[in-house]
Amino acid sequence: MKLIVTKTIFLCLILSTACAQKTDLEKTQATVDKETIKEHIYYLASDELRGRDTGSPEILEAAAYIENELKSYGAEPVPGSDGYFQPVPLRKKSPATAAGLSYAGKSFDLNTDFLVLEGQSGEVSGELVYLDYGLESDYEGKSVEGKIVFAKAGNGEVSDRRAILSLSREKYQWARNAGAAGLVEFYNSPATSWGQLGFMFNRVGLSLDSFENDKPIIPHLWLKDLDNANQKFMMTRSIKQAEITIEGMVNELTQDKNVLAMVEGTDPELKKEYIMFSAHYDHVGVGRPNEEGDSIYNGTRDNAIGTVTVLSAAQNIAKYPLKRSALFVLFTGEEKGLLGSRYLADHPIIPNEDIVFAWNSDNGGYNDTTISTIIGLERTTASPMIKEANVAFGLTAIDDPAGEQGLFDRSDNVSFAKKGIPAPTYSLGFQAFDAEIMKYYHQPGDNPNTVDYDYLEKFFKSYVYASRLIGNAPEKPFWTEGDKYYEVGKTLYEGKQ
Ligand SMILES: [Zn+2]
Repeated sequence: MKLIVTKTIFLCLILSTACAQKTDLEKTQATVDKETIKEHIYYLASDELRGRDTGSPEILEAAAYIENELKSYGAEPVPGSDGYFQPVPLRKKSPATAAGLSYAGKSFDLNTDFLVLEGQSGEVSGELVYLDYGLESDYEGKSVEGKIVFAKAGNGEVSDRRAILSLSREKYQWARNAGAAGLVEFYNSPATSWGQLGFMFNRVGLSLDSFENDKPIIPHLWLKDLDNANQKFMMTRSIKQAEITIEGMVNELTQDKNVLAMVEGTDPELKKEYIMFSAHYDHVGVGRPNEEGDSIYNGTRDNAIGTVTVLSAAQNIAKYPLKRSALFVLFTGEEKGLLGSRYLADHPIIPNEDIVFAWNSDNGGYNDTTISTIIGLERTTASPMIKEANVAFGLTAIDDPAGEQGLFDRSDNVSFAKKGIPAPTYSLGFQAFDAEIMKYYHQPGDNPNTVDYDYLEKFFKSYVYASRLIGNAPEKPFWTEGDKYYEVGKTLYEGKQ
């Protein structure tokens, strides 16, 4: 015994770093390397995985790869999940092959005059009721049971397509919950071309909503009305009946999965707090070919790189656990409307109030290899640690330079921000959402041989180092005072302080 101790002391004198407690910086250096990063990215963004489309067989191969990696690092399954997975039930909807809308002797044509957002094959006819914007308050005191609701799109304030669409989805649920037989919106926003909207809706769609509700799926139409002529016609006549027919539209239940794992914290108190490391691993699959005839949207930047940042953190933290517990999550369905993250936020496995920081990684592209861009950098008190970690690897952390893109509210982080969890998104360095970004953003050319791995190594190390600083900090991070999510955060953690 004495001999061993003496030998150990002797060894320590020679190899002092082997015995001294490593710093977080040294621990970061010890596991993150360029070759491993490259290997993961080349696999996840390979043609073999055909763009990791949600609902495809290939995304399951990506899920199995991620599971295998997490397991090999020694990260544990999260109690309450299905091994390393959380099944996410989805509704798969095929587009209508034919449809008709008619009232007051007028009949309209599919695609030319109207688009079908929701529905199923069949015929619906009923009394017509006009409900202004069709907002929840517009239903007060009205009986719409079995009637077809007509309403203006939007709410008189929002004008961009994304906002109109997300409101439209809410309107659909209000109509459905009120027992309406259908919903038709007069669409008059010129912001997006009608052709583009048709392209969006006339393809297979996936959503979370319908099977959480036992009300039948009802038709939901957008009727083109740029000059408000259809709406005026309706306002000035007494129209009683409307009829909608839909053919070829099928809704079926399918399933995809989030991949999860955890590493318990080392501090008896702080380990009750979780840092969530997340990224979506899906992309958009196979689509319209580019000039070279390439139709596989490999999604290297978006979001094989994000997936690998989480894998890098998992490998590092499994080897050198943090004081706080770490939860690693790879989401499905981000490209289809944040499906995986919305599902987890609404069906948490670790309670949301136990997650003190949701550290997401998502990427469109980069145009500056001297920086990391953190969407929401200054919105949480983790900012100084993130900046410090970047400086350590020769990078500068900057906040969202493209506020007009609304990026904070477009990725999986927002599903958790809405619950009150401080949730920035770590991204490759970009100074503007410009042509250099658009060259690869959702393009078949987003291939693994088009990224700079020397830069990625620094980027990954800064991410892992920042993760370590946040996970070991005496104080947990929180929203910056005055932030839009500050109050909901206070409410979420009430009783936890
Ligand atoms: Zn993405």
